[in-house]
Amino acid sequence: MDFSVNPNLLEKVDGIRKMLAWSLLPPHCLLCDQPGMAAIDLCEACWRELPRNPVACPRCALPLSAPAMACASCIRREPPFQTSLAPLQYYAPISILVPRLKFHQDLAAGRLLAELFHRNTPAFDRPDALVPVPLHLTRLRKRGFDQALELAKMIAKHKAIPLRTDILLRSRNTAAQSYLDAGQRRRNLRNAFIADRRNLPRHIALLDDVMTTGTTVSECARVLLKAGVKRVDIWVIARVAMSV
Ligand SMILES: [Zn+2]
Ligand SMILES: [Zn+2]
Repeated sequence: MDFSVNPNLLEKVDGIRKMLAWSLLPPHCLLCDQPGMAAIDLCEACWRELPRNPVACPRCALPLSAPAMACASCIRREPPFQTSLAPLQYYAPISILVPRLKFHQDLAAGRLLAELFHRNTPAFDRPDALVPVPLHLTRLRKRGFDQALELAKMIAKHKAIPLRTDILLRSRNTAAQSYLDAGQRRRNLRNAFIADRRNLPRHIALLDDVMTTGTTVSECARVLLKAGVKRVDIWVIARVAMSV
């Protein structure tokens, strides 16, 4: 008789066991191990210290020193998207939690990031659908994990907005953006995305983990608008405080 066990099944069982254990444990702070606040893995002291982004460019969410209609960069070159929502800035502990999700598949860090986005978002115009910035299949296979999709699933649930992963797709693999300057970033992304024109919603919020220069989300927004979407907003957990 063959008593061998399918390793995929074992992995699944292990995942379910971990999920159950997590849901039964009282919240604890993922940053300092103190008891967490109600239903969130963060303590009150760490919550107070979060690098929030209260005064920002309404178009691209760049942190500003005083409120303005748009930042210098958006005035110089109007972005294709309407507004950007980035309730946090990309400093510690956000810059610690995002890589934990992205490179170590730490779903507890992902849950916390989605929860932080949810609890810190100001009033917004409700989009018809939430669309994650797609990761190319080759990179997905290499990394085995799509952080924007994981965050989008959780945020769609929090905000009760339909998640659509069938609208925006990668058409070809592109080099990692972080090693390129602004011009190279734009060239690298040309024709990188395609939009499926069937059953398009009017108003889309595009979701990504972090916005740095905004080149990727701009290219996605451009493709969606060209396909027939009427309005695109950008939702990210955190904005890098830099000007292009
Ligand atoms: Zn803490
Ligand atoms: Zn701006």
